[in-house]
Amino acid sequence: MIFPHPEPQTPRHRILPVFLPFAGCPQRCVFCAQDAQTGQSVEPVADVLRRVDAILEERARHNRPAVEIAFYGGTFSALPEDDQHACLALAARWRERGMVVAVRCSTRPDALPPGKAEALAGLGMNLIELGVQTFDDTALAHAGRGCHGDDALTAARRVRDAGLGLGLQLLPGMPGVTPDIFRADMKVVASLRPDCLRLYPCLVLEGTGLARLWREGRYGPWDVDTTLDVLADALLLAWGQGIRVIRLGLAQDEGLRAALLAGPWHPALGQMAKAEALLRHIASQVAYFTARHGHTPHRLHAPARWRGLLYGQHNRLASRYAALGLTEVVWDDTEDYTLT
Ligand code: SF4
Repeated sequence: MIFPHPEPQTPRHRILPVFLPFAGCPQRCVFCAQDAQTGQSVEPVADVLRRVDAILEERARHNRPAVEIAFYGGTFSALPEDDQHACLALAARWRERGMVVAVRCSTRPDALPPGKAEALAGLGMNLIELGVQTFDDTALAHAGRGCHGDDALTAARRVRDAGLGLGLQLLPGMPGVTPDIFRADMKVVASLRPDCLRLYPCLVLEGTGLARLWREGRYGPWDVDTTLDVLADALLLAWGQGIRVIRLGLAQDEGLRAALLAGPWHPALGQMAKAEALLRHIASQVAYFTARHGHTPHRLHAPARWRGLLYGQHNRLASRYAALGLTEVVWDDTEDYTLT
C-alpha cells in the first residue's frame, strides 16, 4: 500500500522577517514579549527600514535570490499610515528590482476595519497573518486580549475578500485555553483553510503580565508532553486540509532563553511534534492496511529524505514503530511510503 508524506510542502523562497516590536499595538497582551521573542528592541520604523534597505542592497550585490518581506512583531495595520506606506513603498522599490517576490504582515484581528485589507492589497501586500491566539471568547477575555473570536472570523473573511493570502496564528496554552479548547480552535482553523498557520505554545516570559500571574500561582503553563500530544493532532488536522504549518514554537534565541521562566519550551519542539504526527499518520495507515489485508504489514519503505524525522530525536520513536509491527524500515529514494 502506497501513501504520500502527509505534510504539504512549502514554497522555496526565503522569508526576510522585519520585526517592528509592539508597533501599532493598542496594548501589551499579557503573554507577549516581542522584544525577547524577536531579539530586537523597540526602535523607530524608519531606522528598521534603513537596515532592511542595507540587507537587500547587500543581497542584490551578491546576486542572492529574491525574498518575501514579512513585517512582524506588532499590529501592522494599526501603524501610523505614514509608516505603513513607508514599509510597503520599500517593498515595492525592491520588487521592481526583482529582489522581493511578495510581502506579508501580521496584525490583530480587530485592527482590520472595512476597506483596510483592500487598501493594503492596493499598496502591494500579498498575505496577512492574523494573531488570533484563540477563538474562545472566555479565554480571550481572561487574557485581556480586548477582542472576540468573531473579530477573527470577520477579519479572515475581509482578508480573503480583498484577494489576499490568509495566515493564522494560535497560542495553545494561553490563559483560559485548555487542550479541548485548542482542539476546538483547530477545527475552526480547518474550516477557514488558511494558506499558512503558526502555532506558538504559550511560554511565561520575564517582563510580561503572565510572569506576574505565574509568580502569583494564577497561571500554570502546559507541560511538554501535553503540548506535543495536542500539537501532533493539530498537525494531522492541518496537513489533512492542505494547510501548511510554517512555525511550531518560538525560535531559539538568546534573548528568549534569558527571558524564559516557564512553559513547554524545547529546542526541537517542532521536529518532535512533526515526528509524533508522522508516527500517528503511519499508525493509521497500518490499521487501514491490516483491516484491508487481514494481516499486519511488517515492512515500511520510507523516503530517505525523511529519515531524520521518522524515528524522532535520538531514535525515541523506534520502539513505537516496532510496536506497530513494523520491524523493518527500508530507506528509498522516493517521495512516497510503502507498506508491505
Ligand atoms: S500579542 Fe500582538 S497585539 Fe498583543 S502586544 Fe503582542 S504583538 Fe501586540
